Amino acid sequence: MSHSLLKKILLLIFLCLIPVFFSSPHIISKTAAMADSEFQPNIIVLNYHKIDNKNISLSVLPQDFDKQMAYLKNNDYHVITPDDLYENLEHNKELPANPVLITFDDGYKDNYVNAYPILKKYGFSATIFVITSFLDKYPNYLTWDQCKELKKHGFYIESHTVTHRSLTSLSNKQIESEIVNSKKALDERLQQDTHYFAYPTGTYNLYIAKMIKNAGYRAAFSIKYGNVTNDSNIFALERIPIFHTANTFKSFYRRLNYVPLFEKIGWMKN
Ligand SMILES: [Zn+2]
Repeated sequence: MSHSLLKKILLLIFLCLIPVFFSSPHIISKTAAMADSEFQPNIIVLNYHKIDNKNISLSVLPQDFDKQMAYLKNNDYHVITPDDLYENLEHNKELPANPVLITFDDGYKDNYVNAYPILKKYGFSATIFVITSFLDKYPNYLTWDQCKELKKHGFYIESHTVTHRSLTSLSNKQIESEIVNSKKALDERLQQDTHYFAYPTGTYNLYIAKMIKNAGYRAAFSIKYGNVTNDSNIFALERIPIFHTANTFKSFYRRLNYVPLFEKIGWMKN
């Protein structure tokens, strides 16, 4: 967010709260806490699914996606990798200003056909969480060869389990198989150490998060709405879903710019 916009919003909120200040000392201390949290990293993790022309909420139109990427490019956002995010959260490694991580869930073929050329145009890369048993199997999902090519161009291909079943509905043995076998497939096929995981349908619990850690992952992404900060659980990281809506750019802009503020004053966490 630009400083002048942030100042305007803070001023507006301040003006709205003046009557409250005089009646409630509690609110004043909460405002002071807000100022402290300004110095925390505020990392935006965007979450997409499909980039195509279908008129469903999971599909962002290619021209809308292009407009959103242009906005990031022209407004001093810096696209980071999951390793950058991990190094910052675990080892305090510095991030560029306005860091954004772009993620896609499920591994649809349109990520390669439609999103990849647009991302390439802006010099961006992204992270795709794939369902490993779907690759080379269903025509509307990526192939392993496409994953290899994306990886060669700086994309991260990470785990979204083997079969995309909600983990909280499975037995421990099944959960283990989803977590371990998807990592194994990715490690072998892409010659990598797969470190990142996204929960299918966003469902998880502390026990599952522990299993993810034990399997050798460094971090896991949920669909909990919000920005990643120092307070985030590294095995349940927040994301901002971007959907196709009646005015996709307007809702993209709102989600990108207003979430941190809403979150700080406790309106939109979860
Ligand atoms: Zn999914």
